[in-house]
Order: sequence, then structure tokens, then C-alpha cells
Amino acid sequence: MRVAMVGSGYVGLVSGACFADFGHEVVCIDRDAGKVAALKAGRIPIFEPGLDDLVATNVRAGRLSFTTELAAAVHDAQAVFIAVGTPSRRGDGFADLSFVYAAAREIAAAIDGFTVVVTKSTVPVGTGDEVERIIRELRPDAEFSVVSNPEFLREGAAIQDFKRPDRIVIGANDEHGARVVSDLYRPLYLNQAPIMVTGRRTAELTKYAANAFLATKITFINEIADLCEQVGANVQEVARGIGLDNRIGTKFLHAGPGYGGSCFPKDTLALMKTAQDHGAPVRLVETVVSVNDQRKRAMARKVIAACDGSVRGKLIAVLGLTFKPNTDDMRDAPSCAIISALQDAGARIRAYDPEGMEQARAVLTDVEYATDAYSCAEGADALVLVTEWDAFRALDPARLRKALAAPVLVDLRNVYVPEEMRRHGFHYTSVGRPQGA
Ligand code: NAD
Repeated sequence: MRVAMVGSGYVGLVSGACFADFGHEVVCIDRDAGKVAALKAGRIPIFEPGLDDLVATNVRAGRLSFTTELAAAVHDAQAVFIAVGTPSRRGDGFADLSFVYAAAREIAAAIDGFTVVVTKSTVPVGTGDEVERIIRELRPDAEFSVVSNPEFLREGAAIQDFKRPDRIVIGANDEHGARVVSDLYRPLYLNQAPIMVTGRRTAELTKYAANAFLATKITFINEIADLCEQVGANVQEVARGIGLDNRIGTKFLHAGPGYGGSCFPKDTLALMKTAQDHGAPVRLVETVVSVNDQRKRAMARKVIAACDGSVRGKLIAVLGLTFKPNTDDMRDAPSCAIISALQDAGARIRAYDPEGMEQARAVLTDVEYATDAYSCAEGADALVLVTEWDAFRALDPARLRKALAAPVLVDLRNVYVPEEMRRHGFHYTSVGRPQGA
């Protein structure tokens, strides 16, 4: 099938490359000329494991190409995906749909013959109706169907997630649209990926409900971690103790600095606003949003407490800046709020991240960047582990201890074993584990 992918970011580029790998003919479109030029030159503008090889293979096979020219690609396509950003709107937290609607207008002008327009972007309930209205208004003659196909991939494991999804949700109000999108995913039937065909609004809401539920799970265990600290219990053992119950499951029960990233913060907020607007407030999610917001600065207070109550004039070394490992994405990363709060308290910051420093430079100010974990720690008054990259999981404690000016280690991801770190002479703090453990 001929596919046009409008938006070639984390989702569009991965989805486009994977569809091409299934054998479809895919054109990835982006209005960012720099991004398209890089892709044409064989450079991948984002860090996503395995993506460079996947793109290269499919470009070589002639199934994947890149362009800034939407019209020609859409004109030839049977399915046009919208995979543009839907960030939080400044001021009120609703999803900013301006990119989606702009794409819909451009698509409307270019479609030719029966075309299925598929929203892959995470969009609030009713957006599909509006996309349909926009296209119909601009092109009363057009034959098209608007389908919702929310994406559930995770950055850092995006290709695997796309190719072996837990489920594929297709929200369509007509059979033809549902069939075309199901056909696109046909190669995945071999992997027995369950395909759910629902109404369009149901599919749109399913994505938000999934993200809100996962954010709730994280926030739940984070609050239990705080309680563990007060009562001398161990949150990792509590998490295992509840997670082994199949009704609960072990995933998303890792206590830490609070969720961040390009999806959970904006999607929980957008769901909250949609629900309020429809007179059915999701109070649980409202609480999750507020608890998580406060948590990041609370993590900075944890660091300050570990530094004997003050970081003024001190040098704090931060390991890991991206919102999670294996991505370079800095959107809403907890490190941003933690670093700002430490800077507010008078600290100087030196940081290191294996892949995120280029993007970090664009969002953080007054941060010195190191070239590896040990040079980051050199002469610092405390070391804070914020993102659990593999490269930080087996650091040499003796070498770290020697590099640091003071042996203070704040491990916000519970990567290290408290007893061992204390044996190496660290003043070690983690999340939800007893100080004496
Ligand atoms: P992104 O910012 O990485 O990519 C969006 C791209 O769209 C950008 O490159 C931008 O230049 C381009 N674009 C915007 N308007 C355009 C237009 N009119 N024509 C052509 N290109 C245009 O965003 P992303 O992380 O890929 O997210 C895209 C959507 O997918 C969002 O709604 C997001 O919530 C959702 N999503 C993201 C993830 C994730 O892990 N990043 C996972 C699931 C769903």
C-alpha cells in the first residue's frame, strides 16, 4: 500500500520506517526542512536504538523516502497518517491541536481518490470528527474516511513496540476505513498482535486512559515510597510483593523522581481538561498530576537534605538528563525541574547524559557539561543519579568516591545497593528504602 506519514518525529519516523519494513511504500513528510535534509543524507535526527539501520535498509530497498512536499506524497497515497505533535497548549493545558488541524487542511487540498486519513497523534476525543469536518468543508468532492489509530510505542524501545505491539487499536466509524488500516498492519497478524476495532471516539479515549493509568501506577508507587521512608519499609520489596499479583503486574512500579517525558505530563493534563469540559472530572488523574508536579522539586529537597541542608555555592553533579534511558528526548524530563530547583537553592550544576546533552543545551541554562560519569563527578559536592542509563548501572564506586569532593550519592532510581554504597564510604540516599538498609 502507498502510505504518506505527515510528521517525521519520534512517532512518524518509527512508524513510517516500520510500515516500509512490512513492505509498504512510505513517504515521510516533515515541514522541518533541516530534518528532511538530514534524513535524505542518511542521518537520523533523533536517537532511537536500531532506527538508523531500519531506515537505511528501507531507503536502500526503495520503500522509504522523505520530503517536505506534502501535496505530491498525499496525492499518491491510499493512507495518510497524521503524526504531528500535540503539545500542551500554553496557559490552559489543553492539547494544542493547531498542528493536527493545519495538517488536515494541507491533506484536504491534496487528496485524490479514496483516501484514509489516520490520526496517529494522541488527540482528544472528538478530534477525528473535527478533522473530518475540516476536510469535508475544504473538499466537498473528496472521498475519504477519517480513522483513529493511536500509537502506544515507547521511546527507547520504539521499533520493538511497533513491530510487536500488545495491541493495535483502530477507531473507525466506517468499515472501509477500518479495513484499510487493518490491512496495513496485516504483517503483524503473524505476531498475533490483537487488533481491536472500535468507534473513533473510543480509540481516541483509549490512548489517554492508557497513559493516565500508567501515570497513576507510577505516582501510586512514588507515594508508597514516601511512606516507606517514614516507616522504615522498603518500596522495592513492597512493589515486588504487590506486583507478583497478576491483577496488579510488576511493570510501572519503580519508585523514582516522578514521571516526565513527551507524553504522560501533557496527556494526563489534556485528559483532565477534556473530562472537566464534559462534566465528568477524572479526580484521580487530577490528583496524580498535582502529586507528580510537586514531586520533582521534592527530589531537589532530597538532594539538599543529603548535602546537610544547603547546596548554596556547592557543585552538584547530575547523571542522566533525558526523561528515561535510550532516548535523547528532553521534553518535560524530571531533570529540568530538579536542576532548576537546585539552582534556585544556589547550587552550580555539572551534568552528563550519554545521548541527551544536545537537546539539554536547548532547555537548561547555566549547566556545565561533562564527557563521562567520572569527569562529571570530579570535585563535586554530591552526585545525583537522575536517569538510569545502563552506563550508570555499574559505575566503579571507589573511582567515583575518589573523584567526588564529598561522598554524597543521591540515587533517584534505586540503581545501587544501599549497604554496598555505604561500605564504600558514601553517604547514600535513595527512594523509599530505609536509610539503615
Ligand atoms: P515530534 O515533535 O517528535 O514530531 C512531530 C513532527 O511533526 C515534527 O518533526 C514536526 O516538524 C512535524 N510537523 C508538524 N506539523 C507538520 C505539518 N503540518 N506537516 C509536516 N510535518 C509537520 O512528536 P512525536 O514525539 O513524534 O509525537 C507525535 C504524536 O504522537 C504526539 O501526538 C504524541 O503525543 C504521540 N505519541 C508520541 C509518543 C512518543 O513516545 N514520542 C508515543 C505515542 C504517541
